[in-house]
Amino acid sequence: METTIFERIIAREIPATIEYEDDDVIVIHDIAPSAPVHLLIIPKRVITSIDALADADAALVGKIHLVARDMARKFGIAESGYRVVSNCNADGGQTVFHLHVHLLGGQQLGRMNSPLASHASEQPTTKQETSTTLRDTLLFIAVAIGLAIGFNAMNPKAIAWLKPEFERQTATQNEIDKYLRQVPPAPVQQKEIIQQAPVQQARDGVSQTSTDQAAAKNSTSSVNPVIASSDQSASASAFTPEPGVVREINYDMFVRLLEGTKNYLIDARGSDKFSQGHINGAANFYGGDVQSRIPDILASVPRDRVILIYCDGGECELSHHVADVLKQFGYGPVFIFTGGWAEWTSKRK
Ligand code: AMP
Repeated sequence: METTIFERIIAREIPATIEYEDDDVIVIHDIAPSAPVHLLIIPKRVITSIDALADADAALVGKIHLVARDMARKFGIAESGYRVVSNCNADGGQTVFHLHVHLLGGQQLGRMNSPLASHASEQPTTKQETSTTLRDTLLFIAVAIGLAIGFNAMNPKAIAWLKPEFERQTATQNEIDKYLRQVPPAPVQQKEIIQQAPVQQARDGVSQTSTDQAAAKNSTSSVNPVIASSDQSASASAFTPEPGVVREINYDMFVRLLEGTKNYLIDARGSDKFSQGHINGAANFYGGDVQSRIPDILASVPRDRVILIYCDGGECELSHHVADVLKQFGYGPVFIFTGGWAEWTSKRK
């Protein structure tokens, strides 16, 4: 059998800090202490582990424990308490296969729920310490949540905690017809009115709109005729405002209002999407930060026109955000095209 490190210490082949020695046992300081006091009480006779003890070794085992008691007294830990343990074989965590007993003390050693020899000093030592760790963790989570809420509140593109409930009323055909009757439809040319990239110069909704509208007004080509936001469809005096009226409309209604009324068209999507393509003549007021655009809206949205809004399509939250602001400032009627850009592009292919 291979000679163990303890045999070589006993034979003085390698050094160790020897605390006690007699004919039967030797006591050394553990080279990697797991507690302020960490001694190894080692029988001089080679016995590989507890499992290798014979009944006849009872006296030796007793002596090892009596030496442990004396060492504890010598190091002043008898009263405060200590632990005497012996690891046996692989699952017990034994690494030196020469029987030995660890004497550990000088601090609160904690519960015996993990391998002691190598981790005793790392374990939470009391219930109090465990609850302190839990409290610190909860405190950390609370602070993190608080910071997230604060950051969100200060962010202009804040995430809404609750999904806002919008007034979702669908327009009747009569309501559409009423506005169509107020303005005799202009002679509409059947031309493409989708404007795709190139990217717009200005990202600001107001200047973007005026750019679009000016371009559209000047347009004599058949590529981008003005249909939305146009003055060409005559009699402003025929328009009857309906402040606060917000209605959702489908594609057909949208096209009829777009082509047959004096209207103001708003794209409520983000400026990046708007730049990539939008319905010609549309102004861009992003629904996600519409509150910060209120001065622009009041300065540029006329009160004598039907207002048409679209966004991506579907829930139309962005459009509704814009409609809410318009409603708040007495605009109306406002019509939200629920199919949005998605339906518009698919139908206009
Ligand atoms: P165990 O893991 O229960 O077999 O314990 C063996 C112990 O012996 C470990 O705590 C080691 O730190 C300790 N040890 C190993 N080599 C030496 C050495 N040369 N001098 C003192 N202690 C040692």
